[in-house]
Amino acid sequence: MRLDLILRDADIVTLEAGRPRAHSVGVLNGRIAGFDEELDGCTADQDLSLGGATVVPGFIDAHCHTTWWGLGLGSVDLSAARGLDEVYALLEEEVRRLDAQASMEAAAPAWVHGTGFNHEHHGGAFPELARLDAITGGRPLYIRHTSGHQSVTNTATLRLAGALVPGFEDPVGGSVVRDADGAPTGVVEESAQALIQALLLPYSRERIVEALDAATSRYAAEGITSFTEAGVAGGWIGHSPLEVAAYQAALRTGRLHARAQLMPTLDALHPVAGHASDLHGAGEGRGLDLGLAAGFGDERLSLGPVKVFLDGSLLGATAAVTEDFCGHPHNHGYLLDDAAAFRSRVDDAYRAGWPVALHAIGDEAIDLALEIITGCQEAYGPNALPNRIEHFGIARPDQVEAVARHGIAVTPQASFIGPLGDQMAALVGPEREGWLYRGRSLVDAGALLAGSSDLPVADNRVLRALQSSVDRLSDGGRVLGGTTDGVPAEGLTPEEALRSYTDWAARATGCGADKGTLRAGKLADFAVLSGNPLEVPDISALEVLATLVGGCFTHNALPLDTSTPDTPTHHALPGDPPAANDPTLPAHDAASGTRPGPGVVLPAS
Ligand SMILES: [Zn+2]
Repeated sequence: MRLDLILRDADIVTLEAGRPRAHSVGVLNGRIAGFDEELDGCTADQDLSLGGATVVPGFIDAHCHTTWWGLGLGSVDLSAARGLDEVYALLEEEVRRLDAQASMEAAAPAWVHGTGFNHEHHGGAFPELARLDAITGGRPLYIRHTSGHQSVTNTATLRLAGALVPGFEDPVGGSVVRDADGAPTGVVEESAQALIQALLLPYSRERIVEALDAATSRYAAEGITSFTEAGVAGGWIGHSPLEVAAYQAALRTGRLHARAQLMPTLDALHPVAGHASDLHGAGEGRGLDLGLAAGFGDERLSLGPVKVFLDGSLLGATAAVTEDFCGHPHNHGYLLDDAAAFRSRVDDAYRAGWPVALHAIGDEAIDLALEIITGCQEAYGPNALPNRIEHFGIARPDQVEAVARHGIAVTPQASFIGPLGDQMAALVGPEREGWLYRGRSLVDAGALLAGSSDLPVADNRVLRALQSSVDRLSDGGRVLGGTTDGVPAEGLTPEEALRSYTDWAARATGCGADKGTLRAGKLADFAVLSGNPLEVPDISALEVLATLVGGCFTHNALPLDTSTPDTPTHHALPGDPPAANDPTLPAHDAASGTRPGPGVVLPAS
């Protein structure tokens, strides 16, 4: 039998009980054809020796923000700044750069965009508004806090957003932060960020496609083959009401380098109606036109659950908790709308076929998430994909037991533990530290734990996140949640850590039949690593040598001599229509029909 690809001389970790390890794997039509002796007598268009490298299922990032991050790749990166003087200096440099281009600008001055700001890197301080105004000289400024739940602006931005008009009132679920005298500080929280986003939105389809191209090619370099975009097309997290069309364009033109599942925000849904017997006998609900719902699409691009923000962030101390944050008397965060409004709108969406992914970081928000999801599950049964609680950041023991009992998937980000663990522990105090971004207790309870980065809140170096799941070490040297008998109390085994980003993430995103483990018939999505994550002392020290989606390389840093002579180093992509089919695409695509490089596009089937 003639296959498309055979990978040989590999240490293959399948995560399947029937054949946990193998040395070779064959691929046909984007799926796994078999292993080892099953390949006897088979030849392949491409026959590669991996020289003993390890192959694991491709990584699945179950919650990230690709467009947001991709757009931010063109912003001033403030993540490495320590001390506000460094922030000011970076902004001054950016203003000089923009000034040098000013002759090319339209009438309105270009915005200064910053990303990666975290006040904890500056002794808890935020930039001074007067200083920012002096630096930016009338250009609007928009700096996203690394949590995403706050932003830093200047007077020009606040004026454009209407926040300086007498009688201005904060929107529901957010605020333009003011000092004791009532003057704005430049900090804007939660849903009030939408006032600024409204000035920038919508981004053009082409701008979003460029962001997806830049972001997902970097995903490929981390071994990521699938991701779930946690909020598109509405709210402060969306970039355009046509955001799904941008994903389709990226896929069609070879600029989407991983499989994508898109969560529309609840704001992107609207009232829909059908026959009186439809929508569980209500005849109406909240959804999308044509009755589109979760699960629509194919294995390259599909619709996921609906994303709902119940509360804010832990870093910004806006997550809704039942006890005050430490050092913030009388501050226990807040729900972003009233509970009754959430209940009713989520019920409408669920009835219309939308499983839910409820962002709930504080335990008060998790209580509400549990109540809403269990209510919907009891009333209507399951939808096409599992229901989820996003982050599950500060979770009481009874809540761990509840998500397991009700089959609700959770996505606590192990990627936060390194960079943010010390800050999070200080905010909740020693009594609640063990509740933070749990691992072991969830697995022991039988809950479905999906690995995710929440990029750009934390980076998406999956191998670093796997090591963090095991050792729970913060950058300050703290074992988050403490130790039991000398081992991290919430630590996972290396295999569990790997499963969280493969097997369990696949199941949590409703794709367990197609992805997450390696067996014949499943999609040929692989990460090729420099060593075996189940055996090395430090998983984060491994390198991603190659990444394959459907048997095609999306990233290839293998030594050149692994390829057998006279074989192509990448696959043709049958059925992937040329970009020239789409007259609305920019000229450079339409003219050349080019792709970004060999073997870096998703296979057509
Ligand atoms: Zn998120």
